[in-house]
Amino acid sequence: MSYPKIELHVHFEGTVQASTVLEIARRNDVALPVRNAHELADLYRYRDFAHFVTVWVLTTQVLRRADDFRRIVVEYAREASAYGALYVEGIFSPAEPVRRGSSWEEVFEGYCDGAQEARELHGVEVQLTPDITRSYGLDEAELVVRYAAAYRDRGVVGVGLGGPEVEHPPTPFEHVFRLARENGLASVPHAGELAGVDSIRDSLERLGAHRIRHGIRAVDDTGLVRELADRRTVLDVCPISNLRIGAVRSLEEHPLPHLMAAGVLCSLSTDDPALFGTNLHDEYEAARSLGLRARDFYEAGVEGALCDGPDPRTPPQQGKGVRLGCSRPFVRRAPDAGLIVRSPSGSALTAAAMAAVSRISLRLLLRRSPDSGYRPSLGPRDPR
Ligand SMILES: [Zn+2]
Repeated sequence: MSYPKIELHVHFEGTVQASTVLEIARRNDVALPVRNAHELADLYRYRDFAHFVTVWVLTTQVLRRADDFRRIVVEYAREASAYGALYVEGIFSPAEPVRRGSSWEEVFEGYCDGAQEARELHGVEVQLTPDITRSYGLDEAELVVRYAAAYRDRGVVGVGLGGPEVEHPPTPFEHVFRLARENGLASVPHAGELAGVDSIRDSLERLGAHRIRHGIRAVDDTGLVRELADRRTVLDVCPISNLRIGAVRSLEEHPLPHLMAAGVLCSLSTDDPALFGTNLHDEYEAARSLGLRARDFYEAGVEGALCDGPDPRTPPQQGKGVRLGCSRPFVRRAPDAGLIVRSPSGSALTAAAMAAVSRISLRLLLRRSPDSGYRPSLGPRDPR
């Protein structure tokens, strides 16, 4: 049986191909330290962590306008769709472009437009989980949450925590994640990638994590492994990223098989595919070489996906008279009428009701997919 892919841990800034960086840099009049596309492609070839940071900064500094953010979501959705992805929960770090002069609205509008276009053009459901940058201030962290809450009805479903984990532990962000949860946003921090067990425990207990991005260092504490399995907390694992960053010494030593054998639910993702020279196909091949099955990643993906309202205190509202089912309502954006939402039968819904129905329907769609003969479409960019 062919299983569609559910990717829950990918940074849009880390998906941008060198050719796109070059085009956007030209349009935004940003100078790059290369003379042509060939040199840029060479610069993109992963060498070590310091080089990763250089390329991350280079990529993110060219992204300035709403259309830049929209474009990179749509381009990645096309790529992910070619590899069989049905659902992507994408990350972006809004405070970085804001520090460079973009407005919060430009950033959120751009990514939300991208998610909508990805759905319409490529059939990939994209939901968004902006990251709080751990090395920035708490004021900026709170602004990420406030904007995320304001864009909930346009596909923002959670808030994450990213950046240097060792130097910036989770605890100072406790109240910010409480605010997020009070606003119906899930908590999806990075933890246990380079820092250890305490980072994961604090993320669960202080940040109320619904899932953990990476979480692989849980393997160092059998009690924590048991707890993650018992609570059914999904870890969004990215083996090739871990290898490139040096979080594991070799693929053969990756803790993923051990975690899964112990009953921990793990989804499989690329993290920063363009920067790490990976893609969804390669991640699944790497996992297969470790004896792991696509089915288990799919099932963990369904369990972990934030598609039906993450917080039981703010259950999604159902629109009156709306039938739930696998045919998702569609959304069309009229030029100057804001968001026009219609159910499959054509009756208008409120945006909030649409978001709720869409998420519940999506859950049903994901659960049914393997048995409904779903076959990933292979686009022109699939190298297979
Ligand atoms: Zn990440």
